Amino acid sequence: MHQIELEMQIEALREARAQAEMAQQRYAELFDFAPLAYFALGPDGVIHQTNFCSERLLGINRTRITGQAFSQWLCPEDRPAFQGFLEKVFVSDETHTCEMVLRIGAMSCHVAIEAVADKTRQSCLAAVTDISERKQTEAELRLAATVYLALGEAVMVTDTTNRIVAINPAFTSLTGYSAAEAIGQSPSLLKSGRHDKAFYRDMWQALERCGHWEGEIWDRRKNGDVYLKWLSINTVYGDDGKVLRRVAMFADITEQRQVEAIIRKQANIDPLTDLPNRRLFLDRLQQGINKSQRSKQKLALMFLDLDHFKDINDTLGHDVGDDLLKVVSKRLQDCIRVTDTLARPGGDEFTIVMDELDELSCVERVAVAILHCMKHPFQLGAEQCFVSISIGIALYPDDAGDMENLLKKADQAMYAAKQQGRNGFCYFTPAMQSTAETRLRLTNDLRHALDNRQFRVAYQPIVELATGHILKAEALLRWQHPDLGLVSPADFIPIAEDTGMIIEIGEWVFRQAIQQVRQWRERHHPHFQISVNKSPVQFRSSDSTHGRWFEQLHLRGLPGDAIVVEITEGLLLDASPVVAEKLLAFRDAGMQISLDDFGTGYSSLSYLKKFDIDYLKIDQSFVRNLSADSTDMVLCEAMILMAHKLGMKVIAEGIETEEQRDLLLQAGCDYGQGYLFSRPVPVEAFEQLFSRPVGEGI
Ligand code: C2E
Ligand code: MG
Ligand code: MG
Repeated sequence: MHQIELEMQIEALREARAQAEMAQQRYAELFDFAPLAYFALGPDGVIHQTNFCSERLLGINRTRITGQAFSQWLCPEDRPAFQGFLEKVFVSDETHTCEMVLRIGAMSCHVAIEAVADKTRQSCLAAVTDISERKQTEAELRLAATVYLALGEAVMVTDTTNRIVAINPAFTSLTGYSAAEAIGQSPSLLKSGRHDKAFYRDMWQALERCGHWEGEIWDRRKNGDVYLKWLSINTVYGDDGKVLRRVAMFADITEQRQVEAIIRKQANIDPLTDLPNRRLFLDRLQQGINKSQRSKQKLALMFLDLDHFKDINDTLGHDVGDDLLKVVSKRLQDCIRVTDTLARPGGDEFTIVMDELDELSCVERVAVAILHCMKHPFQLGAEQCFVSISIGIALYPDDAGDMENLLKKADQAMYAAKQQGRNGFCYFTPAMQSTAETRLRLTNDLRHALDNRQFRVAYQPIVELATGHILKAEALLRWQHPDLGLVSPADFIPIAEDTGMIIEIGEWVFRQAIQQVRQWRERHHPHFQISVNKSPVQFRSSDSTHGRWFEQLHLRGLPGDAIVVEITEGLLLDASPVVAEKLLAFRDAGMQISLDDFGTGYSSLSYLKKFDIDYLKIDQSFVRNLSADSTDMVLCEAMILMAHKLGMKVIAEGIETEEQRDLLLQAGCDYGQGYLFSRPVPVEAFEQLFSRPVGEGI
């Protein structure tokens, strides 16, 4: 009996122990695999036991953790506090918590520590949780709150029922409503009444659709002022995807708009005339073209340029020039329709854009009206002056299909109007286009012509009519273009003049001429002369190339009279001091001066006397139709008589027939030049002329 009882007790005990062991093991497993990092610590902070999670937290094996002081993983600043924390844990039965920073290698990690001592007070169990993420979020929230408060832009948050739940200080200073006044209200508190229902409906539709809306909106402040603001609304959604909050941010842009308007005006308006400047003009032109394209109507572009405006500026001063531009712009404004755009792109240029044209005759009417209105004198302070204008007209879409080309064509037409004697208008024609294209090509090619040795000088004999002797020659420039062949000086000299290249080219011709004249003086006649054409541009340029001309003659041992300079009447007409001075310098150096193309310009006797001209060249237009009783004959006789009276010799240009030669000889003409004697020819061909009598025809 006793034996049986004893065995049962032993069995019960064994079972109890087995259960206890199982519980122990289960506890150990729970401890080991718990998702929290557990540390069993002694009162001195030494680690007795840890679990897998703490291995992961500290990043090292458990065996190397036990026996170590926990505080060695704490950042040094937290260590004293941790010591104090442990002391508190070991004197009570309660759970204590603290937050510390772990230093694991180079990383730091915020943790929360929750610890409780066991009954024996020999050890405590500390659960350590990584709270870095929470700390990060807290920091971000703190930052957001600071930004929200400090933000220059007003912020307003509304809830799902569209009531204001939060505002920031900028909201109050912008709208005038305090937090107490605004919170709980609907945002319609701010409405100005300037926008219709559709405006707000569109806004709400956008918010429902994509959660975002931004744009300009007029609102009203508490004091009643209406202001323009830039509003941007964003939506915050809950985890369930439903709208949680709407956050509106806005700034007053009324002032900014005013500044922008001023800047826009400055950028688009010409301050002198208050007309659109180049920028706005181009903008309007493009708009006009777009409009015409849609409506299938025509558009006219006019380029206007004051004639000789530079002279007014130079003689009367820039202030008077400015006044003139102002008055001109007023007069032009009166000539156009209200829908037309008059602009001043710069200088003395004006443009007019006329769009939606039903009939083209109104373009011409406007052009005529403009020319007419310019006929009245301009009263500028004490001065009264007359100014004319040249107008070029191009039409869209007839002349060009886009703005850039339309501008070019109007410019070409304007150029043509100037060429046709100014004070008139000219429509663009395809011929102008091809002229302009050739001109452009020649301009480009001309730049390389000197370097590429494409120039030649041809010489045309000037014959003493009485004897048939060749005593002079005219140097005439020839351009052998690689593709176009021989280009006429009539085509390229004006380009060379416009671009200033004539100065360099003229120098080259002069050097050729003096070399040649020296040779021919040695070989044929000691008083042989070569005449060189000199463009007005060369005279007007302020550099002193003419000084070098004398020098070069001198270096070659030539007297001044080896060279005759051919000038045109136009040069004498506007003889500025620079021109006069240069002419007199030639005179002083013994060089002779020949007046070319005489009779085609504003022939005036007074300047012939004033400038001491040596030769007068009767223009070939008088010689061409010469017959015994023609008017031209009378004119030629008169010119010869007059020239002789003034002590000048006469050269007749363009003699092609023996009859012309004979008539001129009878009239007393001294020299002749023309195809009858020879065309302009290269040096070798010219030299053959010396050896045979000329004038028997060619
Ligand atoms: P220009 O100085 O009046 O030259 C006379 C022009 O008449 C030359 O034309 C000549 O070839 C042409 N000519 C001569 N005899 C006759 C004739 O019997 N009948 C006809 N129909 N024409 C005749 P080219 O060589 O074409 O020169 C044209 C113009 O180009 C020259 O007129 C001159 O103003 C200018 N030019 C030529 N070379 C130079 C130069 O080196 N420098 C400058 N600045 N201008 C030049
Ligand atoms: Mg000439
Ligand atoms: Mg001539």
